[in-house]
Amino acid sequence: GSTIGVLGGGQLGRMMALAGSNLGYRFIALDPTPESPCGQVAGQIVAGYSDQTAARELAERSDVITYEFENVDAEVAALLEELSYVPQGSRLLYTTQHRLREKRAVEKAGATVAPYAEIGSEADLREAVSRLGIPCVLKTAMGGYDGKGQWVIRSESEIGPAYAELSKAGVELVLEQFISFVKEISVIAARSPRGEIKTFPVAENIHVDNILHVSIVPARVNEKVQQEAERLAANIAESMEAVGLLAVEMFLTEDGEIYVNELAPRPHNSGHYTMEACATSQFEQHVRAVCNLPLGPTKLRTPVVMVNVLGEHTEDVEGIVVNSTETGFNVIPKVHLYGKKGSAPKRKMGHINLLCDDVEDGLNWIQQTNIWRNQN
Ligand code: ATP
Ligand code: MG
Ligand code: MG
Repeated sequence: GSTIGVLGGGQLGRMMALAGSNLGYRFIALDPTPESPCGQVAGQIVAGYSDQTAARELAERSDVITYEFENVDAEVAALLEELSYVPQGSRLLYTTQHRLREKRAVEKAGATVAPYAEIGSEADLREAVSRLGIPCVLKTAMGGYDGKGQWVIRSESEIGPAYAELSKAGVELVLEQFISFVKEISVIAARSPRGEIKTFPVAENIHVDNILHVSIVPARVNEKVQQEAERLAANIAESMEAVGLLAVEMFLTEDGEIYVNELAPRPHNSGHYTMEACATSQFEQHVRAVCNLPLGPTKLRTPVVMVNVLGEHTEDVEGIVVNSTETGFNVIPKVHLYGKKGSAPKRKMGHINLLCDDVEDGLNWIQQTNIWRNQN
């Protein structure tokens, strides 16, 4: 069998390796942390992501290279492309690791993003705030995740402090109009080099403190929104000639309009529900796509609610699942823990897929446990 090299050894790489080994592939991760989640189930090179010697070793030991996070050093990506086979290419990475480039690509595909402005100075910011209106969201163009590198500007007096804080990162800034959405939804599309495209069913996502808490599938949106969201994700994947998975985060407004928030060219937390709930998981689909195999069917087999298990909840998981038969809700919990060495509050340690006949049962089940996080 061939070996797939993965840049990054986190939980996404781990679940990719577990799914891909069922297809006969071997995996090797490059990650600075020894015994990374992926390294525990695959080979691992322990080194930094921008270490060129390690990148060369990865290229030598792999037939195909992919990545499980998007902030891969551009030079390393180019080097790997030269030395090995990187079916996703470095262009997809280059586009999605920068919010402005990403927004332009989304617009080019015919989808809508929140009105935005490129910010190079505090004067730019003042002008853009008066044009886009308050509230608005200032974001670093690169490197942000879990809401880090963002500031929601809710009054004019915040312009100075927001600029001072975010400009510290020394990267470009983007200002976005605040979209008062009724729901956040996402669609994961897969595209293979042969041009085959498939989308997974729409997930409805609830974030708490900017961290994904729960995904609900089927999303509680009408058929038209479901179809439109899947169509947009497929169009973006097609237009960008993406290979592998492309996760598309979207905002849905009261009048049914869909705005694309951001993209991720990899498996996505909001797609973890596919592991038991779909005919093919997102991880298997990613491997199929980068290896140019026919894509698997994406049909939903059962309603499902996915809940993330954060560091502060890890200790309880076993007890919660054992006792869950007593909740009276008709739910089959499937637990996935990532084997991370250090637990810390807010750190994603695992997730539970709650298979159910009705997503309300899954939501009620979570509310009875201390994994439930209240929204402020
Ligand atoms: P991720 O961990 O998903 O990569 P991130 O740090 O890249 O997150 P975004 O997805 O851009 O950040 O934003 C985080 C959350 O903040 C969104 O899921 C949404 O709830 C809110 N948000 C971001 N941009 C806007 C906007 N323009 N209008 C309204 N809410 C927004
Ligand atoms: Mg992001
Ligand atoms: Mg996001």
